[in-house]
Amino acid sequence: MKYQPVIGLEVHVQLKTDTKIFCGCSTQFGAEPNSQTCPVCLGLPGALPVLNKKVVEFAIKAGLSTNCSITPRSIFARKNYFYPDLPKGYQISQFEDPICQHGWLDIKVEGQEPKKIGITRIHMEEDAGKLVHGELSGSGDGSGVDLNRACTPLLEVVSEPDLRTSDEAVSYLKQLHGIVTWLGICDGNMEEGSFRCDANVSVMPIGSEKLGTRAEIKNVNSFKFVKQAIEYEIQRQIDLIEDGGTVIQETRLFDPNSGKTRSMRSKEEAHDYRYFPDPDLVPLVINQEWVERSRQELPELPDKRQQRFIDELGLPLYDAEVLNGSRVLADYFEAGVAAHGNAKLVANWVMGEITRALNDSGTSIEFSPVTPSQLAELLKLVDKGTISGKIAKTVFDEMWKSGKTPGAIVEEHGLVQVSDCSAIEGIIDEIMAANAGQVEEFRGGKEKVFGFFVGQVMKASKGKANPSVVNELLINKLKG
Ligand SMILES: [Zn+2]
Repeated sequence: MKYQPVIGLEVHVQLKTDTKIFCGCSTQFGAEPNSQTCPVCLGLPGALPVLNKKVVEFAIKAGLSTNCSITPRSIFARKNYFYPDLPKGYQISQFEDPICQHGWLDIKVEGQEPKKIGITRIHMEEDAGKLVHGELSGSGDGSGVDLNRACTPLLEVVSEPDLRTSDEAVSYLKQLHGIVTWLGICDGNMEEGSFRCDANVSVMPIGSEKLGTRAEIKNVNSFKFVKQAIEYEIQRQIDLIEDGGTVIQETRLFDPNSGKTRSMRSKEEAHDYRYFPDPDLVPLVINQEWVERSRQELPELPDKRQQRFIDELGLPLYDAEVLNGSRVLADYFEAGVAAHGNAKLVANWVMGEITRALNDSGTSIEFSPVTPSQLAELLKLVDKGTISGKIAKTVFDEMWKSGKTPGAIVEEHGLVQVSDCSAIEGIIDEIMAANAGQVEEFRGGKEKVFGFFVGQVMKASKGKANPSVVNELLINKLKG
């Protein structure tokens, strides 16, 4: 029998606000344990939560960018469960009437038509604290709780079960990751857990209408692991059914070392969260003006910008995709185009030399020592014939290292291209005299030797001879 996998994703997006969702404590990562806490996020009796407006603004932007409708009156609910990292004994979340609903994203998988993936809902909630096991500062070995993360704002983005393969799931995740980082509402750091994902996976016989029993894989924190975890889980369920077994509803954990998922808890052990509206928080009313104001503030999203690079700047799809890898990269490229004018040439340099230099030095584009206008200045020197394309790469390396302008470097190192015919002719004469045998070969019809002569002339001129002048003069001289 053949099986159809069905996948839905729940993504937790940690919002990049300065302060927590219901109190004024800092959200800075990596501080001394419990140094960023107050009565509200410690859950002390009598402390009252106050909603951070920035969180609502970020949620609206996320919703508008994923084609959701914004709920005019949304409600916070208490999700009740006991765990030591949750001081109040409940998490403030949204249950009925979440802030964003009924959205979708278009995903593209190589070799497939674009596909619409439904987004059921996006809701706001607070994160829990973190348990720390091992050596604790000042109190020896043991387990402790760090509540710095408690009450930091999250969005949970829940997809419809529209995904069918691990590749589709990764494409959806990358698209969502691109949007939230592009909007500047999340730093997107998956290793630190700022963007993490639960995957619901089931399989059903092809042609069946009834969904199979699903397993939920918790907290997968890289695109690669999501792919591995889903593929492993699909195969595990198919093997189980083929062997006459039944898939049970359960929560599973993915182990990156073995590439396998293992059971964490079954449905019987699942929590009954006893959701109810939080009496400490009034319903959140968002009027149409607020929504429209947020819509005006949205940046051009990666999808649209990519298309514009193709339509207006004439770039191939590949270039447009690479340059839209991040918002800062796309900004850098566009600033370069504005200063120079030739989009394809600037694209080649950004994807070539700049990317290579960034990789070599382990820096990211926002810290590039060569600014877009300096890059444009360098390319203009090539346009004017002041330096050759080859020398431009040398000048670029020097710009990267020293931070000097291309003009200054060219002058300092005497790199101006030689286009003067008599100077180049002199070099050619010397080389022909020193290589009489090759001259004979060329004249005897062995035209391949031409490249040898070009190489020799360029070498003798230390790369400064204008290649097109060299070519022209050489042909004339060799043909004698
Ligand atoms: Zn606090």
